[in-house]
Formats: sequence, C-alpha cells, structure tokens
Amino acid sequence: MQFDHETLGQRIHFAAGGAADALAAEVELLGSRRVMVIAAPDESDLAEQITHGLPLVLVHEEVAMHVPVAVAERARAAATRHQVDLVVSIGGGSTTGLAKAVALTSGLPIVAVPTTYAGSEATPVWGLTEKAEKTTGVDARVLPRAIVYDASLTLSLPVDLSVASGLNALAHCVDSMWAPYADPIDRALASEGIRALAAGLPRIVDAPTDLEGREGALFGAYLSAVSFASAGSGLHHKICHVLGGRYDLPHAPTHAVVLPYVLALNAPAAPEADARIARAFGTGTGLDGLQALRARLDAPRALRDYGFQEHQIAGAVEAILPAVPPSNPTTVTPENLERLLRGAWGGADPR
Ligand code: NAD
Repeated sequence: MQFDHETLGQRIHFAAGGAADALAAEVELLGSRRVMVIAAPDESDLAEQITHGLPLVLVHEEVAMHVPVAVAERARAAATRHQVDLVVSIGGGSTTGLAKAVALTSGLPIVAVPTTYAGSEATPVWGLTEKAEKTTGVDARVLPRAIVYDASLTLSLPVDLSVASGLNALAHCVDSMWAPYADPIDRALASEGIRALAAGLPRIVDAPTDLEGREGALFGAYLSAVSFASAGSGLHHKICHVLGGRYDLPHAPTHAVVLPYVLALNAPAAPEADARIARAFGTGTGLDGLQALRARLDAPRALRDYGFQEHQIAGAVEAILPAVPPSNPTTVTPENLERLLRGAWGGADPR
C-alpha cells in the first residue's frame, strides 16, 4: 500500500441526552469565558436547554442556508463587539456553516452540536454565497475543535427531513469511494458509514421517537463526513454544488435525488467500489442496496419536485462539465451527463 492520509484533530462526544454536560466540559477544557451561541430561531429552545450553565455573552439567531456574505458579516461583527472567545453552533449544516464563517476571519474556536446529518461539523470546508454564487474553500481554522452528538436533539427533526439529510450523509460515503483524494482509510470509514445509515434511517421512519435509529444515523453521518473531508468532492458533490448554487435547490433533498444516478453511471467502471458499497448494504450491487433503502424510506425522487425545471438541464450540463474531477471512474460527456440530469429531473429509473 502506498498512500498519505491526514487525520484531522477533533474531540468527539457521543452523549445521548447529555449534551449540556458534554458542552460544559468542553467550555471548561477550552478555558472559555465569553461564549457566543449560534442557533436559528427554530432551534433556540434546544439551544437554551443545553447552554443554560455556560458563560454566554451572545445568542445569535440569524442563520440562512448557504451562508450569505451579509449574514456572515453581521455574525462576525457581533462576535467582535461582544469579545467572544468561543463559538458554539447548535443546528444543521447552515448553522455550523455560519460558525465557520466567523472562525474563518477571527480564528475563534468552534464547538459544534449538530442536529441534522449534514456532517459539516467534521470537515474543514467553509462556504459563503454572494449574488447566487457559492464559494467554498478549505481552512484548518474552521474545523470545530469538538463535536457533541446528542441524538435526543434530533428527535424534533421531521421524518422527511431526517431521510433527506441521512441520504445526504450516504452520498458523502458513496462519493468517497472515487473522489479525487480517496484512500483506503476513507473507503473503510465510508463503508461503515453506509452500514450505520442503512440500519439507522429505516428505524427513524418506523419509530421516529426512538433514539436508537437517530443515534445510528448520527454515527453514520460522522463517519461519512470524515471520509468526505479527506477524499474531497467527487462527481456527485460537484453536480449537487452546481444545482444548489445556480438553481437554489434545497441541499439535502438534491443530494438524495441525484445519488442513484451517479452510482448508476459510475458503478460499471468502478467494480471494486461497487462491491464495497454492495457489501455494506448486504445486497448484490450497490444500486440494488441504495434503491431498496430509498424505497423503504420513501426518499425524495425527482428534482422537478424541488424547483429544477426541464429547460435548465442544458445550462446545468454546461456548468457541471468543467468541474468534473478527472479521477471520476466513468468519462463524463455532455451526453451521459444530460441523461443523468434528465433522469434526476423526472425521477426515472436510474438503471
Ligand atoms: P439546514 O441546516 O439548513 O437545516 C434544514 C432545516 O432543518 C432548517 O429549517 C432547520 O431549522 C431545521 N432543523 C435543523 N435541525 C433541526 C431539528 N433538530 N429539529 C427540527 N428542525 C431542525 O440544512 P442541512 O441539510 O443540515 O445543511 C445544509 C447546509 O450545510 C448547506 O448550506 C450545505 O452546503 C452545508 N454543508 C456543508 C458541509 C461542509 O463540509 N462544509 C457539509 C454538508 C453540508
């Protein structure tokens, strides 16, 4: 074997029902005296429950999807004004993303408390949006110092959002099999991530108020994000990045819809990756496993249901082609990409 792999340094706490104690211990460990909490209004009750003992100087509630620059600037100014020494983010990928925007310019440490399966908390990737253009980058300063996973905080995430978000995490795993910097450690993490998500998500659907499925999905989401952080963006993420940015499609459902089409395109040219994915699902092929899971979850099916229009397919093909990673196992052409997007637009059988 010959490969180089960087393991990112974070403390990870799995603490079902114990986020308040785990957070207090982290704040103490980091020696923080002036905590800024970032939590959207919908998550403010959750935030209050787990931060009441902390030395809070600011609770910041203005959170927006894809972190608009103006929103980031206001959060940064508030952090400076209140002489914050630690940012605690409590919420989904949008909330973690705003904390990262603050850390990017201030160098402030972050403790992340995720309430979806997006996985941003385990990556050094930041994103900012200005005039419908999304810019992303990688910076070690934005990687949270610690993560507190408390499955009880995800009980309020509706089942359909849980399914879409869980499939977003599954997409990190599948794309990590062939992404530009994918290595054997990433693939091992991604395989276990698929197993955890394939076991956890159906339990959320069957028993939304039980913790076990949600905890399994959080564990899978963490593994998926660690593998994605190291492997980089593969074809699937490049496609979804363009679709989300240009057409303002919702993040998690877009990933959930597009994934089977990318797997169908790449699997024939990536038999080893497909065998790994299939083993993780316990099925004959990766696509068999993914499609059986999607049916079981009643997963998002077609991009047209989320605002993508047929006449936008040609423009999307043009925008995606230059971003396709050269390492992609299948050669991507205007024709097969058009077929892929048309399938995802209408929800056709990816086979
Ligand atoms: P989100 O954070 O926008 O949350 C979606 C919705 O769920 C929101 O309305 C939110 O209020 C609600 N919500 C969140 N937690 C809840 C809970 N426990 N109970 C009830 N409602 C809850 O969406 P997301 O899919 O988590 O994150 C998407 C964003 O994260 C995108 O901007 C994406 O680009 C970014 N992201 C970044 C990375 C990275 O590595 N930088 C990785 C994944 C996603």
